[in-house]
Amino acid sequence: MFRVLLRLYLITIVTYSAAIFLIPKLVIQLFEHRYMDYNVEQSRGMQKLIVKQYLRAPVERWSQLTEQLSADFAPLKVQLLLRQDASYTPAEEQLLAHGKPVIRLGEWGWMEDISSPINEQFVVKLTIPPDPLDMNLLYWSMNVLIGAALLACLLVWLRPHWRDLERLKSTAAQLGRGNLAERTRIPASSNIGSLAAVFDTMADDVEQLLNQQRDLLNAVSHELRTPLTRLDFGLALALSDDLPQASRERLQGLVAHIRELDELVLELLSYSRLQNPAQSPERVDVVLDEFIDSVLGSVDDELENPEIVIDVALDCAVERFNLDPRLTARVLQNLLRNATRYCDKRIQVGVRVGPDGCEIWVDDDGIGIPLDQRERIFEPFYRLDRSRDRATGGFGLGLAISRRAMEAQGGTLVAQASPLGGARFCVWLPSIA
Ligand code: ADP
Repeated sequence: MFRVLLRLYLITIVTYSAAIFLIPKLVIQLFEHRYMDYNVEQSRGMQKLIVKQYLRAPVERWSQLTEQLSADFAPLKVQLLLRQDASYTPAEEQLLAHGKPVIRLGEWGWMEDISSPINEQFVVKLTIPPDPLDMNLLYWSMNVLIGAALLACLLVWLRPHWRDLERLKSTAAQLGRGNLAERTRIPASSNIGSLAAVFDTMADDVEQLLNQQRDLLNAVSHELRTPLTRLDFGLALALSDDLPQASRERLQGLVAHIRELDELVLELLSYSRLQNPAQSPERVDVVLDEFIDSVLGSVDDELENPEIVIDVALDCAVERFNLDPRLTARVLQNLLRNATRYCDKRIQVGVRVGPDGCEIWVDDDGIGIPLDQRERIFEPFYRLDRSRDRATGGFGLGLAISRRAMEAQGGTLVAQASPLGGARFCVWLPSIA
């Protein structure tokens, strides 16, 4: 907020200073005659008094009188001048010839000096000296105080705006993280009230649309399971009969397809369940090395290539961490399964617990993931179009489910490059205060 305040303040101050410098100059230039007349009117009495003093005294005493007047009028300066020595412009000469005073304007349109004719030869000139230092300082301190008042005003004005904008920003971030119930709740009286209202309506619509989509996915997946189970059961019955070898093989192929479909339906159900905000994750204190061991154990059983080596590096200041064991185990199993599919022969699991949270990463020495695909692989059904991927099977839902499972716990899951040469998947879970 302070950066915006500073910018706004600088713009205001620069504009104010420029305006205060330029606008009076322009106005004085445009209305010079009026300013001159005004100053003449204001000083007419004083001029007349001074001129009268000279006219009453004999000419020999004029220089003495000038000294006397200078002393009386100090700090104003009184000078007795010969007209031809005083270097007046022709227009000024004409004014003096008509018995009128000649005035010169200074800053803010105030007179700097005024000359009044005494007779054909002499003029008396009254000069107003520049302001003394202390008056100048007072004037500048007044400007500084005006600047400070302006800053205070801007701060008072900006604070509620800033608070509401921050609220809008955090709501947008929460919505982006999947908390679809989040709203700005900025009152209509706020200056960004109408914008916030439009934003909240948009959030309502998005929530409704996503809920409809999730419910549809859920319903379709549920509905699909029943006929699939019936088909599986029917095929198992058909296979129990005496069949020619070719028919048996065809039926076995169909069973494999049905199992694959069933797996997809199960994955879809998990995905839509994780999108349900009502399903809050449970939190359990787990002993980290035991937890990692149990996850590795379940993946070890499925390892098709016995040459793959899995290392574990634990760097934990504390033994226990509070997490949802079911969701976290599912994520780690998924990452480890992917690593076993795509690695060459090495996988490394690292765990680090800091004051803010727990970081778990799974490294492999495989083909890795191109930089521009590291976010896209978390989209549902997204698979990299590589010959290796087609061979590994899968629906492209595993990482999407894993990321949702981490986000449901307030954590993150990102893909990076591994120091082993392949991919690194990094899970981060925040500590619960
Ligand atoms: P799938 O179930 O098809 O593997 P995932 O969502 O788990 O789907 O993964 C999406 C895509 O991410 C995969 O098709 C694969 O291309 C890529 N991927 C996942 N893990 C790795 C890895 N460890 N190394 C290289 N590519 C990976």
